[in-house]
Amino acid sequence: MPRYRNLEPTADFWSWRDAAACIGHEDLFYSLEDEVKGERRKKEDEAKEVCAVCPVFDTCRTFALETKELYGVWGGLTEAERHRIAGRHRTG
Ligand code: SF4
Repeated sequence: MPRYRNLEPTADFWSWRDAAACIGHEDLFYSLEDEVKGERRKKEDEAKEVCAVCPVFDTCRTFALETKELYGVWGGLTEAERHRIAGRHRTG
C-alpha cells in the first residue's frame, strides 16, 4: 500500500521537506502554463540540478509519484515525466 495514502497533511506529514534543497529556489520548480517552452525547459533543468544534491530526493520522488502530484518538479521529475510514468497525458 502506498505509504502516503492515509496520512493527513499535518506538520509531521511534511517534515521531510524541512531538509529540501529547493527551499529558496521555488521559482525554478513551477512554471506558468503560458511560459515559453524553452524557458520552462531551462528552469526544469536547473531544478533537476538542485534535486540531484537534495538529501530528501528519494522521499520526495516517492511522495510525488504516490500522491500523483500534478504540478512542478519533484524528486528530479518534471510534470511531463511523472505523467508519462503514470500513463497520463499532460494537459497544460
Ligand atoms: S528532490 Fe527536488 S523537489 Fe524534492 S525536496 Fe529535493 S530539491 Fe525539492
